[in-house]
Amino acid sequence: MLDVIIPTYNEEDNVEPLYKELSSTLKNIKYTLIFIDDGSNDKTLSKLIKLYNKDKNHIKIISFSRNFGKDAAIYAGMKESNGKYISIIDSDLQQHPKHILDMIEFLDKNEEYDEVAMVNSYEKDSFMQKIFKKKFYKLMSKVTKYNFEVGASDFRTIRSYVAKTLVELKETNRFTKGLFAWTGFNIKYMKYTPDKRLHGKSKFNFTKQINYAIDGILNFSTSPMKLSLYVGSTISTLSFIYLIYIIIKTLISGKDVPGFASIMSVMLLLGGVILVLLGLIGEYVARIYIETKRRPIYVSKAKFGFDEDIL
Ligand code: UDP
Ligand code: MG
Repeated sequence: MLDVIIPTYNEEDNVEPLYKELSSTLKNIKYTLIFIDDGSNDKTLSKLIKLYNKDKNHIKIISFSRNFGKDAAIYAGMKESNGKYISIIDSDLQQHPKHILDMIEFLDKNEEYDEVAMVNSYEKDSFMQKIFKKKFYKLMSKVTKYNFEVGASDFRTIRSYVAKTLVELKETNRFTKGLFAWTGFNIKYMKYTPDKRLHGKSKFNFTKQINYAIDGILNFSTSPMKLSLYVGSTISTLSFIYLIYIIIKTLISGKDVPGFASIMSVMLLLGGVILVLLGLIGEYVARIYIETKRRPIYVSKAKFGFDEDIL
């Protein structure tokens, strides 16, 4: 009835406590835990296999050949799940399993909703992080025209057809939050406060978060491309006016040789603008290049609990 997708990357100290918490929380319903080992290089996989050997009725494992990223792990989990409900949860106990029961209860009672997404109340974030994240989601909704709820996390419970739809979206460069928004399903947002990570450190440092934000915008909107159109036409109009001014001035008061400063500043400014816009176009071209190769989203080295154990 319920499949729980759990992306895990170097979480050797967290998988056992998480397993305990999940199994005691879900003991009254029929469930399967699908752990995706995202190319961990610590003892995560061996700990997962130990749990699997103890509780084969409730555990499945997909082990990636290398680190493909959390979004690829979520994709793999959705592809392999067949429950009526599918939940996605982090493996560091920041997201308490008890909320899964709340989400299921809501979906049971409200047929018109297709999924429930937990929304971070942001209490644990710093002041700057709060502002940055809020602005980012507002900007995303504006440039993409899809609804990006401020603070909505990947901690969700979706109905089976939502997962099927997401699996059909085969893009390699996956921004799962955007894919959820793109589908346009009816989402209920529920507030929660994330706990502290049980062990280890977050895998998403500041640079990764910035890259994640850029990915989000470039993957779901071509509006930045319009920038060159706007900037280019504004500069052309201003240059044209300036040209007329120079011609008239020369006709009236003769040749005017000095002008090094103005030529240099216009040249430097234009050079900068052209380089930035070229870089932007390059980003899109790179994405087209990657997507046209149609490489698989992940490579699994071993599977446990599925029909065939080792690939
Ligand atoms: N994760 C993953 N692959 C990665 C990075 C992270 O599967 O390349 C998993 C990680 O093990 C955790 C979840 O994604 O279960 C969220 O990661 P993390 O807690 O580091 O992110 P944060 O909570 O800081 O956003
Ligand atoms: Mg975390």
